[in-house]
Amino acid sequence: MPATMQALVILEPNKFEIQEVSVPTAGPNEVLARVRAVSICGTDAHLIRGDYPGFWPPSFPFIPGHEWAGEIAALGPGSELYGWKVGDRVAGTSHDACGVCQKCVEGRYNLCENYGRPGLHKQYGHSVQGADATYVVQGVKTIFPLPDGLSFDEGAVIDPASIALHVANRGNIAPGDTVAITGAGAIGLLGGDAARIRGAARIILIERNPGRLAKAAAMGFETVDSSAGDPVATVREMTGGFGVDVVLECAGVPATVQWAIGMLRRGGRCAAVGIPTQGVEIAMQRLVLDELELVGCRASAGEMRRVMPLVEQGRMRVRDVMTHRFTLTDYEQALATFNNPASGAIKIIVAP
Ligand SMILES: [Zn+2]
Ligand SMILES: [Zn+2]
Repeated sequence: MPATMQALVILEPNKFEIQEVSVPTAGPNEVLARVRAVSICGTDAHLIRGDYPGFWPPSFPFIPGHEWAGEIAALGPGSELYGWKVGDRVAGTSHDACGVCQKCVEGRYNLCENYGRPGLHKQYGHSVQGADATYVVQGVKTIFPLPDGLSFDEGAVIDPASIALHVANRGNIAPGDTVAITGAGAIGLLGGDAARIRGAARIILIERNPGRLAKAAAMGFETVDSSAGDPVATVREMTGGFGVDVVLECAGVPATVQWAIGMLRRGGRCAAVGIPTQGVEIAMQRLVLDELELVGCRASAGEMRRVMPLVEQGRMRVRDVMTHRFTLTDYEQALATFNNPASGAIKIIVAP
């Protein structure tokens, strides 16, 4: 095992470099993994810009990255009891919850009531060091066996795929439903696949970026160009005036949240995963009188294992959203590509 490794280190907002840092050591019920692929998430871009001061990350310098795959390089004490061996291929996720609080006991570890409490809870790449490095240490609760049929690159998109499935599950999509999705980024597109997996009959992607609209159409979804007119009126027209049974809100800006509520059929349900950075005015009268439901969706909770066979079967098409690949040393170029709406970037894989 080498003593040092390459890591992407954020020094302060918008200032980062590749540094040679010490290889971390796996503690009890943790493993050290050789990271083979890590995917850039919208949260990484926010975090690098310093959009969540004092929260994600709690302080600088900081190593981000939380959507990754690789192989186990060393076992911390106790991890072998769970069956882990050196060389096992794994996909990682970020929430290392306490496992003891009421929400964890109920299986909703994404809502751990000890979130961020030192010694009880970690969120890799958010509150503690992440996977944008040659090696990462993570707890056994946050690694999942990667089937031989899936590449490390695909493995790095299992975490967002699990989130897409979680959003569709929270949306409680029933067979035959008509589903609209705001935002054709990775979660929106994979959310479309998740909606189909749950039996949706029609899936309508709402987006304004021409490249993403083309991608959504190429993946077989109906599309609405929100720059071409009022998307609520268009979706109502497309559904005989009724609106859609479920909206997956994957864009996270006030307008898209309002569209989502506006295009719901009576009794419809909106599952929101996009996180607006400001307050949003909600049409409460409609929500009350039409018995609409609005639910939040945070990360995933139990979907990591469930989504992998769906990816293997080609029903959750992670390859279709993987658009670029860079080495970790070219992270600056990778991030610039990710942040450029004209680049066609959806999921960018970085190889440490
Ligand atoms: Zn992410
Ligand atoms: Zn907990």
